[in-house]
Amino acid sequence: MTLLSPAHAGTRPGSTPGSTTPRLELHVPTALARFRRLRAALPGTAVHYAVKANPHPDLLRALVAAGSSFDVASPAEVLACLEAGARPGDLVYSNPIKLRADIVESAGLGVRLFVVDSPEETRKVAEAAPRSAVLCRLVTSGEGSDWPLSRKYGCSTTEAVDVLTLAESLGLEAAGVSFHVGSQQRDPSAWDAPIEASSRVFAALRAAGSSPWLLDLGGGFPAALEGGAPALDAYGAAIRRALRKRFGSRRPRTLVEPGRSIVADAGRVVTSVVAVVHRGDTRWVYLDAGVFTGLVETLDEAIRYRLETTATGPSGPCVLAGPTCDSADVMYEKQPVQLPLSLAEGDEVVLTSAGAYTTCYSTVGFNGFAPLPTHLVG
Ligand SMILES: *Cc1c(COP(=O)(O)O)cnc(C)c1O
Repeated sequence: MTLLSPAHAGTRPGSTPGSTTPRLELHVPTALARFRRLRAALPGTAVHYAVKANPHPDLLRALVAAGSSFDVASPAEVLACLEAGARPGDLVYSNPIKLRADIVESAGLGVRLFVVDSPEETRKVAEAAPRSAVLCRLVTSGEGSDWPLSRKYGCSTTEAVDVLTLAESLGLEAAGVSFHVGSQQRDPSAWDAPIEASSRVFAALRAAGSSPWLLDLGGGFPAALEGGAPALDAYGAAIRRALRKRFGSRRPRTLVEPGRSIVADAGRVVTSVVAVVHRGDTRWVYLDAGVFTGLVETLDEAIRYRLETTATGPSGPCVLAGPTCDSADVMYEKQPVQLPLSLAEGDEVVLTSAGAYTTCYSTVGFNGFAPLPTHLVG
């Protein structure tokens, strides 16, 4: 039984086998170049790639070979890193709320560093992974970012001192503090306030006789999405300045957990136009990829991909939508996109800087549309 027309199946007339759409084209060397640039921008800071952005095994292997450490949030991500050749000591388990069984399993695999943000979770880690080390996550405003993360997690500096003091009393190592300034953070000075807050937690703990030693500066570094953002070097400079100002000569060891900034620019989602339809004054362009096929971050039009197309000629505004029947499967409507007026069925539309939070964010087959596949490109 055939339910999908050839256009829906996404094979362009005349296209070569293996170039069906939609697909993510992933160029691992670009991710490695981004890794090296971030590491150069933050000398002395360990780079832990956030696996959730894109867990492709070839990417993880290449990052291990380049000297990356990793940020994980589940035993499956721990295993993916270990299989890629990482050592368990190079992992930070940064999900502040964890399944007890997942802590046990990850500790059994050798993970030693867990993030917490509450007394409840600290007790859970002490029971499930005795004598491990913990970072306490501070809340941040998320201001300046396109995809804020911090409403869900994080505590105040006062609570963090209590959490880390409790951790020590339960036999855990109070390693230090973590935070995340929000993803696609366009303001390099966004790290200033949480670094200052972290320094107060460190000072309080040191005054009480503890020896915190690690500051986790999180992710949030930007990709080349629409709207632009400063270069990674500007972030490195702002962070180094804030660390010097707040910690002086007692600077702790530092790590970052970049996801998007490593892998987004290494990937492009190649789609085909399913149909162009005029509804009143509005031109609707339907692609063969949508919110359920890897473009989840377009929800609320938060992440705005730049578009390229094979069509040419003058452009005009249009609404961009996905192929499923769900009314939520609309990427850009409030702020329409500009695409050539000649755009027609079968033309390719490419979403650039789309290597992060796409393939792994795809549904397993909503409405019969397969998950977004990855094609490695050389
Ligand atoms: C998602 C996440 C990251 C990666 O964030 P990016 O904005 O993609 O760099 C880092 N740390 C934690 C705790 C996260 O949840």
